[in-house]
Amino acid sequence: MIYPIVKYGDPVLETPAQTVTEFDEDLKKLVDDMFESMYAAHGVGLAAPQIGISKRIAVIDISFKEDPNAKLILINPEIVKKQGKQSGSEGCLSLPEFRETVNRAKTVTVRAQDVEGKWFETTGEDLLARALLHETEHLQGRLYISHISALKRDIMKRKIKKLMRAGEWK
Ligand SMILES: [Zn+2]
Repeated sequence: MIYPIVKYGDPVLETPAQTVTEFDEDLKKLVDDMFESMYAAHGVGLAAPQIGISKRIAVIDISFKEDPNAKLILINPEIVKKQGKQSGSEGCLSLPEFRETVNRAKTVTVRAQDVEGKWFETTGEDLLARALLHETEHLQGRLYISHISALKRDIMKRKIKKLMRAGEWK
């Protein structure tokens, strides 16, 4: 099932998500639906609040279907290590059409649970490091625009308000 993507302005995106405690068939179905919804929206990462579900679940595939081994499921993820620096363009499915330069760590290690509830650690560099940070922050109710200047953020928010008034942001 493909869920519509929740856009900026919906409070679910700025609310810390709930810890997952049930590792059942419903969770597996939700994870499958999240991948399907992410691909349909042409994204490489998706957090459950972005489909209106306030649970600590994120999916990532920076290969966008090219490499089956690139599919990453993160349940209850925590950042355990950050190293180095990178600067690059970043966007979000919940803020379509916008992109901004965001400074991030170059290498990131995350500790998370899989769909069975088993803990694992994974380390990513460059785009994967960026995705790990971006998606984990979504589960804390934090958006990438918190990393840009207040001036740039205000300009973006004004543009969004205009789109909302025109009925082009829903
Ligand atoms: Zn996002």
